Amino acid sequence: MKVLSYPHPILKYKCKPIQKIDQGLRDIVAEMFQLMYDTQGVGLAANQVGLPYRLFVMNASGDREKKEEEYVFVNPIILKKNGKLKDNEGCLSFPGINADVIRPEFIDVESIALNGDVQHFQWAGRSARIVQHETDHLDGIGFIDRLSQTALLEIKEELEYMKMAFTSNQHRGFIPAETEIIREIKELERLRC
Ligand code: ZN
Repeated sequence: MKVLSYPHPILKYKCKPIQKIDQGLRDIVAEMFQLMYDTQGVGLAANQVGLPYRLFVMNASGDREKKEEEYVFVNPIILKKNGKLKDNEGCLSFPGINADVIRPEFIDVESIALNGDVQHFQWAGRSARIVQHETDHLDGIGFIDRLSQTALLEIKEELEYMKMAFTSNQHRGFIPAETEIIREIKELERLRC
């Protein structure tokens, strides 16, 4: 498992709800947490690691010792949003890029826990921001899609560079071709959606 970078097509993919929670899924979650900590993240969505499922993990502290701050969201739905807050954001799929994003400050979220129970949370501030950023990923939306035109212009060069690097890696066979990526996505969906 590794974090896929922009402009990998799966980051634009609208993930499907998970129909089966089993040991396999719990293993995926454990691996996602490890990878998130190893890469200094505070949240990680399944499609960022190549899995087309509505699932993400979060630990707002980013500290692997603080297990009590670990949260798993299966099939999350944001029920309510309130307020407005501008803050700086980054993303593991856009290494080295940061920008200000305006998002609602308070949210109500429903999701499924790993034991199958429906869980309902209210989040504010930083955690609310992470939950929205990750839920966006599951809808194929990156944080750059939430930027003002001015902010987007400021990172334009970095994005162009990432696109060139991606194309070059694809030509050299380090990243599969688009048709192969889609075939893999469909296969993974059949297992769990
Ligand atoms: Zn992200």
